[in-house]
Amino acid sequence: METPTKLPELFGSMVFNEETMKDRLSSASYNAWKKCITDGTSLDLATANEIAEAMKQWAIEKGATHYTHWFQPMTGVTAEKHDSFIAPVGGGKIVMDFSGKELVRGEPDASSFPSGGLRATFEARGYTAWDPTSFAFVKDNSLYIPTIFCSYSGQALDKKTPLLRSMDAVSRQAIRILRLFGDKDTRRVTAQVGPEQEYFLIDKELYAQREDLRLTGRTLFGNKPPRGQELEDHYFGQLKPRVSAYMKDLDDELWKVGVLSKTKHNEVAPSQHEMAPIYADANASCDQNQLTMELMKKVADRHGFVCLLHEKPFDGVNGSGKHDNFSLGTDTGKNLFKPGSTPSQNAQFLLFLAAFVKGVDEYQDTLRTTVASAGNDHRLGAQEAPPAIISIFLGDELDGVVKSIISGKSYKEGGKRTLQIGIDVLPPIPQDNTDRNRTSPMAFTGNKFEFRMLGSSQSISGPNIALNTIMAEELKEFADQLEKSKNFQNDLQKIIKNAFTDHQHIIFNGNGYDDSWVKEAEKRGLYNLVSTADALPYYDNKKNVDLYVGNGIYTEEEIHARALIHVETYNATISIEARTMSDMIRREILPAVSSYATDLAGRVAAKKEVGASAKYETETLKKVSSLTDDLADTCDKLDKDLNKIPEDATKAMNYFHKTILADMTKARTIADELETMTDEEYWPFPVYSDLLFSEN
Ligand code: ADP
Ligand code: MG
Repeated sequence: METPTKLPELFGSMVFNEETMKDRLSSASYNAWKKCITDGTSLDLATANEIAEAMKQWAIEKGATHYTHWFQPMTGVTAEKHDSFIAPVGGGKIVMDFSGKELVRGEPDASSFPSGGLRATFEARGYTAWDPTSFAFVKDNSLYIPTIFCSYSGQALDKKTPLLRSMDAVSRQAIRILRLFGDKDTRRVTAQVGPEQEYFLIDKELYAQREDLRLTGRTLFGNKPPRGQELEDHYFGQLKPRVSAYMKDLDDELWKVGVLSKTKHNEVAPSQHEMAPIYADANASCDQNQLTMELMKKVADRHGFVCLLHEKPFDGVNGSGKHDNFSLGTDTGKNLFKPGSTPSQNAQFLLFLAAFVKGVDEYQDTLRTTVASAGNDHRLGAQEAPPAIISIFLGDELDGVVKSIISGKSYKEGGKRTLQIGIDVLPPIPQDNTDRNRTSPMAFTGNKFEFRMLGSSQSISGPNIALNTIMAEELKEFADQLEKSKNFQNDLQKIIKNAFTDHQHIIFNGNGYDDSWVKEAEKRGLYNLVSTADALPYYDNKKNVDLYVGNGIYTEEEIHARALIHVETYNATISIEARTMSDMIRREILPAVSSYATDLAGRVAAKKEVGASAKYETETLKKVSSLTDDLADTCDKLDKDLNKIPEDATKAMNYFHKTILADMTKARTIADELETMTDEEYWPFPVYSDLLFSEN
């Protein structure tokens, strides 16, 4: 197989995409597939067989020997189980076989994936079902078939099924609104998502020497290096040759499997970088982001790097997030978050905007829970990432329009334009709304919203399920009212005005990093769910259960199961971190500092014997010895506390959050102080200045 060298040929060369299907399928089968995508009809077995056969032929040409159903269980990463195409035909020979049944349905054992208790009440078996809206592709000699993953009784066990359900929900409701504005053509409204992905690259050999990085993805010890990000020279800085080679290789790999990798640059912290794709349909984007994270790690290995996707690999320098750019697009090519050029278009735009503002305000807590994780707790609220408080940034101009709608007064912009807010006249909306605020968790950036609270390692599924569902809910409410309306213009104005009036407190255009915002937000009555332990109890409160169940996204069992999985994941994460910490203290740090102290004691004795001053050695010895004892005591307490974890998952979460994290912070502070006093020959693992400047 020849590797295409020109980008247009390279791009998607390993994807069984629409063009390939058109080429290789009969027109009847191609049309059946197309109808299945647009109308949600199911495929008959004959068609599935033909697609499977064509897919297999194509995949074999691309070097595939195996196929796998590729799915996204609640672990947040993808899962795959590979079967070869071989089928014996007697006489010791085989043929390459792949049927429509195998394409459409798989039956992995579900019992080892998180199910949040769904497994206890239902069968252990699960099944995977082909998601024909997402293209199959070849990677590492396997044909990857994107699938959903359900229990035998049909409960979703994955992150894909509810995403698809939420996309349907928002499409249904958005179309009702569009019809009211006279749009007869749109048949589908699709959430469009572009996730910007941040990551760190660390030298592989140094990484291997740190048990914390290997087991937890972050450093549990380490002082800020003498040089961090103060010089602000890394952001958009020149790429080092080894990093540049990595990024080029990554792009090639991403392009082959159809990921629209577009932008790459250095980020704020040393060794930190970002990749942004061109946006795509939310479900495809979710698949592509998973592929991106996998390939980032895999390609790093080839370049002697390890790619860290953890939200906070290093204390004292910026952590990594993921910006989720979100809009709603019609199949006729319109973006519903783009201000229009006529009053009617703008009325429609303002209605969608009003739905968004109202929805984000009413469901702040839901949105917050979708980004809650042990890793992200280190970011949100630190002065580098959006605060844990949800607010919306609209920019001065759009904010001016919103304020004028609320007050009923005319809108003046730069003294040049005066706009009357009348019954059937709505203000022109500035088209050049550029985002000047990097501190907002949810910023309007001209024709989309940028949700900036996501952690770098998380699946984008949860946040987009929430955004879709919230929009569906609000649009449904508006459509219910407007479809009955006797005076459309009048009621439209009222709905928009009421929504902005009742929910204006969620709009904040100031500096989200400022401490005064926390007080101001409290005055406004906004949620401030600082940590995962604070946020997760809201995951399945009555209001949020009603939201998701009412829109057909989750069943009640599914949402409670998911809430439990999030709690259990948090507990497991902190437990692993705490145990790793204890292990490193006992087996690496304490022996090292003890040797160093013994060595110092020898030097003190030797110096004293010849009557020389041993002041420095004696002082250091005393300090090191006393800190060593403190560290040993703190580690004892940590170990004891780890033996007292409550049975109940929620109680355990609070215990991990309060007791275990406090023990860990104390142990780290002592260990970090010891690091500053200990001869580097003795320190058992690479320190921050080694790790953060290892890209050369
Ligand atoms: P930033 O200034 O935040 O770096 P960019 O202009 O680089 O923003 O775009 C960020 C992301 O937003 C990209 O992935 C881009 O494809 C995506 N994006 C652009 N337009 C839309 C849209 N209408 N809907 C969703 N995502 C979009
Ligand atoms: Mg961005």
